[in-house]
Amino acid sequence: MKKPFVAKDQLEAIAAQYPTPFHIYDEAGIRENARRLKAAFAWNPGFREYFAVKATPTPAILKLLHEEGCGCDCSSLAELLMSEKCGIRGEDIMFSSNNTPAEEYQLADKLGAVINLDDITHVEFLEQSIGHIPEKVCCRYNPGGVFTLGETREGFQVMDNPGDAKYGMTRAQIADAYQMLKAKGTKEFGLHAFLASNTLSNEYFPSLAKVLFQLAVDLKEETGCHITFIDLSGGVGVPYLPDAPENDIAAIGEGVRKVYEEVLVPAGMGDVTLCCELGRFMLAPYGHLVTRAVHEKHIYKEYIGVDACACNLMRPAMYGSYHHITVCGKENEPCDHKYDVVGGLCENNDKFAIDRMLPKINRGDLLVIHDTGAHGFSMGYNYNGKLRSAELLLKEDGSVELIRRAETVKDYFSTLVW
Ligand SMILES: *Cc1c(COP(=O)(O)O)cnc(C)c1O
Repeated sequence: MKKPFVAKDQLEAIAAQYPTPFHIYDEAGIRENARRLKAAFAWNPGFREYFAVKATPTPAILKLLHEEGCGCDCSSLAELLMSEKCGIRGEDIMFSSNNTPAEEYQLADKLGAVINLDDITHVEFLEQSIGHIPEKVCCRYNPGGVFTLGETREGFQVMDNPGDAKYGMTRAQIADAYQMLKAKGTKEFGLHAFLASNTLSNEYFPSLAKVLFQLAVDLKEETGCHITFIDLSGGVGVPYLPDAPENDIAAIGEGVRKVYEEVLVPAGMGDVTLCCELGRFMLAPYGHLVTRAVHEKHIYKEYIGVDACACNLMRPAMYGSYHHITVCGKENEPCDHKYDVVGGLCENNDKFAIDRMLPKINRGDLLVIHDTGAHGFSMGYNYNGKLRSAELLLKEDGSVELIRRAETVKDYFSTLVW
């Protein structure tokens, strides 16, 4: 049973000050979760989470996570600039981009970020872009084929298709890239891979670790390069469905530790530092999209029209994703009405829920759409002239802070030439 982290009365009070729709984030939840992650990998001195900025590119969130010891994982110019403005610079930034323009490498280098190369051709491209090759470089690996987990939990199978993914280097290329970098002066090497998204299995990180750790041992032998860090990237998921299994980050950390001791330690690589670039796991459950029911419509189906739309949360329209909905104050009423909960875009995929059983919704009810803290606001867009919402932070002391104001028509018009 998913429960909102703000109760109806408080939410009504917030909505009186900040009109719906808005995204609201739970500081206490974010901090506790970040601490659980840190504790799970405390066995690896130097372990670091670089928060995937694209998930929630909001300064208050980046700073809060920075206070918990997290760096930033950036993949664009604006993300780099935002990190810098938040005081997150140097090796606190992992720059994991793909199809990267020269100016982004230049800025990443200027900020002292650790650069993660997505392709072998970027060794030369990076050198041309910044005029030298950094002493510390990471390379992204793509094993090809299909990635499946041997073990599944409660019927959730993890399968992804690295062979169809545009990211990373082949096995042969990554060895060549290491040699090229070494010849150009790189002294510290990192290894990165991202093989599956939103995994709900404690086996994902350990399985990925096995692939990367073995590759690190082999690459060290083949190339003589000094591998000092391994980046497990993102992909640890959250249960969007109310009955989906939850990842146990302590078990995940322990699983990775076992593989580390099996593979890296015997190879004399017990000093390798681990890091990750989680986005969804860090933020998704700690964000709600709050919206109000403004219309009801009875035609061939029952519709509830809300004041948010896919521009505020694209995942249902784009991926058919499930996001749980709570009708505030009606948590204990029977879910005996079947609704499509829709926004106002002129697009029939603008539906937050289809055939969802919910309590009877009246106009004016507040709805909480759950698990929107990552890849929610950030995937927003302006179709149909819809404006981006505000973002709020529910602080640990119960107060609420505006961390991004809502967009206005003036903002929307500001790039136009009349
Ligand atoms: C998107 C992304 C992440 C974060 O992924 P999550 O699924 O949100 O954890 C991390 N690293 C890279 C390179 C990404 O593109």
